[in-house]
Amino acid sequence: MTQETTMDDIIAFAKRKGFVFQGSEIYGGAAGLYDFGPNGVELLNNIKASWWQANVREKENYYGLDSAMFKDPRVWEASGHVGGFSDPLAECRECNTRIRVDKELEKIGVSADEKMNEADINALFVEHAQEIACPKCGGHNFTPARAFNLLVKSNLGDFTSKGDSPVYLPGEACQGIYLNYKNIVDSMHPKVPFGIGQIGKAFRNEISPRNFLFRTREFEQADTQFFVRPHENKEAFEKIKKDRWQWYLSLGITEKHLRWKQHENLVFYASDAWDIEYDFPTYGFDEVEGIHDRTDYDLTQHMKFSGTDLSYNDNGEKFIPWILETSMGLGRVFLAVLSECYSKDELGGEERIVLKLPYALAPTKVAVFPLLKNKPELQEKARSVYAELKKYIPAVAWDDNGNIGKRYRRQDEVGTLYCVTIDFDTLEDDTVTVRHRDTGEQERVMISKLGDVVGE
Ligand code: ATP
Repeated sequence: MTQETTMDDIIAFAKRKGFVFQGSEIYGGAAGLYDFGPNGVELLNNIKASWWQANVREKENYYGLDSAMFKDPRVWEASGHVGGFSDPLAECRECNTRIRVDKELEKIGVSADEKMNEADINALFVEHAQEIACPKCGGHNFTPARAFNLLVKSNLGDFTSKGDSPVYLPGEACQGIYLNYKNIVDSMHPKVPFGIGQIGKAFRNEISPRNFLFRTREFEQADTQFFVRPHENKEAFEKIKKDRWQWYLSLGITEKHLRWKQHENLVFYASDAWDIEYDFPTYGFDEVEGIHDRTDYDLTQHMKFSGTDLSYNDNGEKFIPWILETSMGLGRVFLAVLSECYSKDELGGEERIVLKLPYALAPTKVAVFPLLKNKPELQEKARSVYAELKKYIPAVAWDDNGNIGKRYRRQDEVGTLYCVTIDFDTLEDDTVTVRHRDTGEQERVMISKLGDVVGE
């Protein structure tokens, strides 16, 4: 990130280079919905792969899962989402603008617990109403704060035909883990402590989606739930916090752009809760991931509502495991990575934009160029190098359009680490020019040794 980078720069760049598009744009655009373009989906998939590797595969005692999005509607009653998953809203009586009361209170340093009931939050709002101005007209004349449920309703034959209950799109992805906890215990026989990891979609009827990918109505979450013996939570919680912090550093995020925030007002069942925040351009520090010590609340709730015994049996000793949760928003991390790696510098006297993505995250690792487009012998040789590299490098691009300088700029902008040019000398001695993204340095390399230079 360069000092003067703004979020508007990032948003315009993301669109121009095929990373992120506004949802339903040709119909005028849909608020809070975004589509990931050709470069975006590669970056997103690479972030997911890195998360999966670190949180599931590399851990001896973690199990992966991919659960169905639709669930029995009673799941969302047990989880508390039907009754309590809501944002407190108030409307300006002068211009009808709606505000998120908890967020406005936060801005003036008053912290409102997200699980506070409507009356309590309204009392706080009334107390501080004169300090909160309508963002549109500047007035202070608001309706009382009302709870607005965030679950997105849908319909689905089996459940809806029973008449009374709608089905819901998932308000959070992690419920699928609780539902499959027993299946995983019965099929994989894990020993407590163990974890389950999942990446899944979540939908929220955010009343004022804003800040690009930061607050959207449809997003992906990468979650882990770690099941421990009752009261054996503290040490494991500290270890999880440390691991999660390290993962962000492994993405190339600098430590000065990260910070911890401990929750002051805990939900009644939680024993500890922390957020990892990233320092976004323009928006400043805000949450990318929550790490929560949730005691035995989730499994107890699902036992109560489903009537199924979810206790763990360790050689005759029965207990309900406590859960330590990590829940990360992929869109927010995507935005953090893009912000972190977007930079402007000068190379050879020319200003350029360069996306300094680490190898594992770059949508394209290597680009292959024939020096000239209209020379069949260069094309043929370059095609053979391209085909060979594609065999063992995950993402290789072909570019024979425009002069070499322009091609370098294009690849720099999307974070391609190496550009390989095939020229007339290549036809003589089987060497190519490899140009490095970050330094612009060039070296001559034998084709047979290319993998050593441009592989990871
Ligand atoms: P916030 O306070 O910002 O609304 P939250 O505390 O409700 O977030 P959680 O329910 O803990 O968030 O969800 C876990 C993660 O999912 C968050 O850390 C965030 O990265 C992501 N997330 C939550 N809501 C959204 C959203 N509307 N758009 C994009 N990502 C989201």
